Amino acid sequence: MTPTTTPAPSSRNHLWRPYTQMKTAAPPLEAVATQGTRIRLADGRELVDGIASWWTAVHGYNHPHIATAVAAQLAAMPHVMFGGLTHAPAERLAARLAALLPGDLDHVFFSDSGSVAVEVALKMAAQLWLNRGVAGRTRVLAFRGGYHGDTMGAMSVCDPEEGMHRRFGAWLPAQVFCDLPGTRAEADALDETLRAHRDGLAAVIVEPLVQGAGGMRMHPPETLATVARLSRAHGLPLIADEVFTGFGRTGTLFACEQAGVTPDILCLSKALTGGTMTLAATVARTEVFEGFWSDDPAAALMHGPTFMANPLACAAAEASLDLFAREPRLDQARAIGRRLAAGLEPLRGALGVADVRVLGAIGAVQFARAPDLAALKARLLDHGVWVRPFGDIVYLTPALTIEAADLDRLIGAVAGVVAGQD
Ligand code: PLP
Repeated sequence: MTPTTTPAPSSRNHLWRPYTQMKTAAPPLEAVATQGTRIRLADGRELVDGIASWWTAVHGYNHPHIATAVAAQLAAMPHVMFGGLTHAPAERLAARLAALLPGDLDHVFFSDSGSVAVEVALKMAAQLWLNRGVAGRTRVLAFRGGYHGDTMGAMSVCDPEEGMHRRFGAWLPAQVFCDLPGTRAEADALDETLRAHRDGLAAVIVEPLVQGAGGMRMHPPETLATVARLSRAHGLPLIADEVFTGFGRTGTLFACEQAGVTPDILCLSKALTGGTMTLAATVARTEVFEGFWSDDPAAALMHGPTFMANPLACAAAEASLDLFAREPRLDQARAIGRRLAAGLEPLRGALGVADVRVLGAIGAVQFARAPDLAALKARLLDHGVWVRPFGDIVYLTPALTIEAADLDRLIGAVAGVVAGQD
C-alpha cells in the first residue's frame, strides 16, 4: 500500500466513499434536492440525471404516488422483523411480483440489495442440491464480462480477469467461466464446459440481454435462449440476474421475456422500489421452492436479513408497480431507445469511438482507448448533466419518464464530449 504523506482534510474523511481513491479524486458534489429527472446541488446548479441514480429511479425522483404510499406506511408500521411475523405489504408485493414474472416464478425471498439478492440465489442453488442429497456441486458457471455485485459470492461470479474484483481472486470461491454463446462455436464451447464440469456445478448465472457494470455489453435474446437451453440440457438451475435489467430498462418489464425464457431463480433490486428505498428480491420457480419443502428443519433456507421485507420498501415497490400498470412506462422506454439510437448511432466511426450500443432505454458509447475519466466527468458536468462514465464507456440510462428536451440535452452532452466537438 502506498503510504499517505499528506492527510486529506479530516472533514471529508468520516465518510468512506464507494469506488473512489479518495486521496486523488475530486471531492464529491453535494446534492440537496431531487425532482423529476433533476438533481439540485448545494452550489445552486441543477443537473439532468442521465443514469437515474445508478439505474433505480425509473419514474424520476420524488414521484408523489410513491412518496404518499411510503408516508402512509411510515405512520402505520415503518418496520417489523420478518422472522415469525408477516405483513400485508410484503404479502401483497410477493403476490404481485409472482403475477408479473414469467411462468411459475412464484416464490419471493426479500433482502436489501442486488448483491445480497445474488448471494441468496447462489445459496438457494447450492442448498437445493444438498437438499436433494447431492454433495460436491460447489461451483457456478458464470460469463466473462459479467458483474453481479460486491459481496463475496457475488464477486466470485464477476468477470475474473477484467472485473474490478479480480485482485480478490484468492479469497473467492472458485467458479467456472465461459464466453456468452453468441456464435455456434461459443455455444459448443459452453456445452463442452458444462459437460466437463457437470458433476461440480450447482447453477449457471447470467445477466439477461445486457452485461451492465461489466461494460454495457448487449447480447440478443437468442444468446439468452441458448444459455437457458444448455443449462436445462445439463440439469442445472439458471439464475437470471435482472438487478439492472428488471422493470422496463430493456423495453419489456423483465429482459428474460424477450427470449421467452423462464429462469429457475431471478434476482431483482435497483428499480424495484422506483429508486426510493433499498429492497431486493430473489424469486424462485416452484420446483426450486419445493426442494426446500420438507419435514426436515435443516432443509429450510438458512438466510434472513434483519431488514428483509421492510414495510416502507414494500410499500414503495407496490406504488412503483402501480405506476407501471397505469402509465405507459414500457412505451416510454422504447421511445427513449429510439431517440438514443438516433442521437448516438451517428457517433459510430467518429475518431476515438470504438462502438455504439443501444438496447431499450440504455445507450452506450465505447471509446477506442480508456479516456481520462476525471476530465470527461468534468466536461459532462459543464453540460449540466450527471453521467458517470467508467472504464472505456460512457452511457445513458435515464428515468423512463424523462422529457424529450432533457433526453436531447443528455445525448447532446455525450455526443459533444465523445466527438470532441465542444
Ligand atoms: N447485479 C447486477 C446485474 C448489477 O448491475 C448490480 C449493481 O450494479 C448488482 C447485482 C449489485 O447490486 P447492489 O449494488 O445493489 O448490491
